[in-house]
Amino acid sequence: MEYILKEKIRMGISACNFGAKVRWNHIGWDRVSLLERQQLDYSWTPVCPEVNSGLGVPRPPMKLVSGNGDDFWAGKARMKNKKGRDVSDAVKNGAIVSLDILKRADVEAYAFMEGSPSCGVYRTTLKNKRLGKPPGVFGSLALKEEFFLISAIDLESPWKWWDWSRRLHAFVWLKRQDIKTKKELYDIWHIFKFICQEVDVAAANAIGQKLANAPKKINADFISSWKADVLQLIRRPSKLNRIYSIMIKHYAHYRKQFGLKSKEIQPPDVASGKRNFVEELGKMERRAIDEGYHFAGRPIIYKPDTR
Ligand code: SF4
Repeated sequence: MEYILKEKIRMGISACNFGAKVRWNHIGWDRVSLLERQQLDYSWTPVCPEVNSGLGVPRPPMKLVSGNGDDFWAGKARMKNKKGRDVSDAVKNGAIVSLDILKRADVEAYAFMEGSPSCGVYRTTLKNKRLGKPPGVFGSLALKEEFFLISAIDLESPWKWWDWSRRLHAFVWLKRQDIKTKKELYDIWHIFKFICQEVDVAAANAIGQKLANAPKKINADFISSWKADVLQLIRRPSKLNRIYSIMIKHYAHYRKQFGLKSKEIQPPDVASGKRNFVEELGKMERRAIDEGYHFAGRPIIYKPDTR
């Protein structure tokens, strides 16, 4: 089994994070550029469900009334704009069109704009740190599609991106695998268990146990259920302090393993040292991989045949 992704990961993204000034107040952010050269390792499909609703830019801000995005699709909640106009029908069409675009692009992950009543997944407002009514209308569809979900704001944090990207690679690789035997599952678990434990030890142990308790001959239902458990676990968001301690652990281990030292590296606990630290860890990962050493913290790498 080759633990390499040869084809680019196909990413959907809320268009206002891809440099398009499509937000209600005519602003947008180019957060993908912050990934520098890494952005080329992905194929991006930007969508704006509100613009696809035909509501234009600028437009009055809107909010969910009487429920969240799931309620909206069940016909129990509405979307109203600040002027009190019910824009539910337009928003519904815009979300369906946007999802259709992402499906035609065959995306495997979606970087969503957190805090939006349309694209938000875990919050639908940015006001006073309230959560609003999550998920948003489009966020609800994205959750059901089982995309790997990343808050686009996390692209600004080198640490969070380090964590997201390693899990995203593992997620997409596993999703693309056509697994037939229990031995293959064991081989996969051998390289996935550390990353799963880093997300949630108890949930990871339950997945390991499920495999150990399975009969010798497993069927397609067991394989897809086991795969779904792993995929569900590795797409869960993590807290920054948890990511930080995981990174330090990997850094210390591989520094000891390879004796890698760099004069340029700065302590990771100062703001200016964050990016350097992540770059240094990246060098260690590449060296480990080149030397045939399994880097437990990043079990799957992207390496096209041309590299
Ligand atoms: S959050 Fe979503 S709907 Fe709102 S501007 Fe961004 S892409 Fe469009």
